[in-house]
Amino acid sequence: MRELVEQLASSHSLDATSLGTLIDACATDPSVLQHLRDNAVRTARQQFGLGIYIRGLIELSSYCRADCLYCGLRRSNRTAERYRLTKEEVMECCKEGYALGFRTFVLQGGEDGTHSDEWLTELLSHIRSLYPDVAITLSLGERSEESYIRLRRAGANRYLLRHEAANEALYDSLHPSGRGIKHRLACVEALQRADYQVGMGMMIGVKGQTTQHLVEDLKLIERYRPQMVGIGPFLPHHATPLGNEPKGDLALTLAAVAITRLMLPKALIPSTTALATLSPTGRLEGILSGANVVMPNLSPSDVRAKYAIYENKASWGREAAEGLNALESELSTIGYHIDYSRGDYNNQND
Ligand code: SAH
Repeated sequence: MRELVEQLASSHSLDATSLGTLIDACATDPSVLQHLRDNAVRTARQQFGLGIYIRGLIELSSYCRADCLYCGLRRSNRTAERYRLTKEEVMECCKEGYALGFRTFVLQGGEDGTHSDEWLTELLSHIRSLYPDVAITLSLGERSEESYIRLRRAGANRYLLRHEAANEALYDSLHPSGRGIKHRLACVEALQRADYQVGMGMMIGVKGQTTQHLVEDLKLIERYRPQMVGIGPFLPHHATPLGNEPKGDLALTLAAVAITRLMLPKALIPSTTALATLSPTGRLEGILSGANVVMPNLSPSDVRAKYAIYENKASWGREAAEGLNALESELSTIGYHIDYSRGDYNNQND
């Protein structure tokens, strides 16, 4: 098994069969997982040193027209509390975030039909004019190619659109209202054409996901070469059809992060909030598996609990923008520190 790790680390690729073997070995043999993670951490340190980039997460809206089986904001969840930030509230978040040192704002939300191109371009232009030196990331789901182009022109630089599941049958089973994985990937391609830095990714341990599915996810990521990759464990939300399903596995999540780091050495990979929610040490374990980004919550405090894609989502203390000191001291326990620069993807020699 060590040879497979060495091969992945040196060639940044593994065939599907070997990937499956490696993933299964990581789930059962802690020494294999450790060897994989050590290699991933070495690669991340070569690229980024001991600095961890931070992104301020602003959750624009909990309204959503989609009905994803796993998500607490799905439209069929009649018990979800819905809110929508005003432009003024978003600008207030940016002001606070900028003062705290954030140089990336991530505007994430449900697929809220009221977020027209006009509304968003006005907001983007405003952020751009006040903060010309920040990166603006959007994570607002599936939109038209024309819309992606307009938002890019208005000042957005990056877009997170996890592919969620490369396997068509699995994708369809999780997204009854969706337009299928082909359409999701067409959106990713439209974003790439529009010259965004693009993020893909998936949950680990969502219902129906097998090792083979994970292999398909990782091979898809290898093929699309996104600049960012978000990977976190599935966490159940009681008011969804998957409310009684088990959480995603920590070891498997760390293995997927580490494999991704070795496949795409320069990718920006967050140690996700879901990982931090799954385990008190999850944040650091993600970094010690090759992750190099943390996304603290910058949403107004009164709406944080309402953006409940899963339950008990960490959004306070080290997960909160105002808790950067706590994050810094947590990172220092493993010798890392916050890197306050914008943290763009380095596309030299690509
Ligand atoms: N509406 C946007 C943003 C979704 S929220 C979009 O469609 O892209 C960001 C990510 O949270 C999702 O892509 C999904 O992978 C993850 N997520 C949603 N529900 C989750 C759950 N129950 N457990 C863990 N992660 C979840």
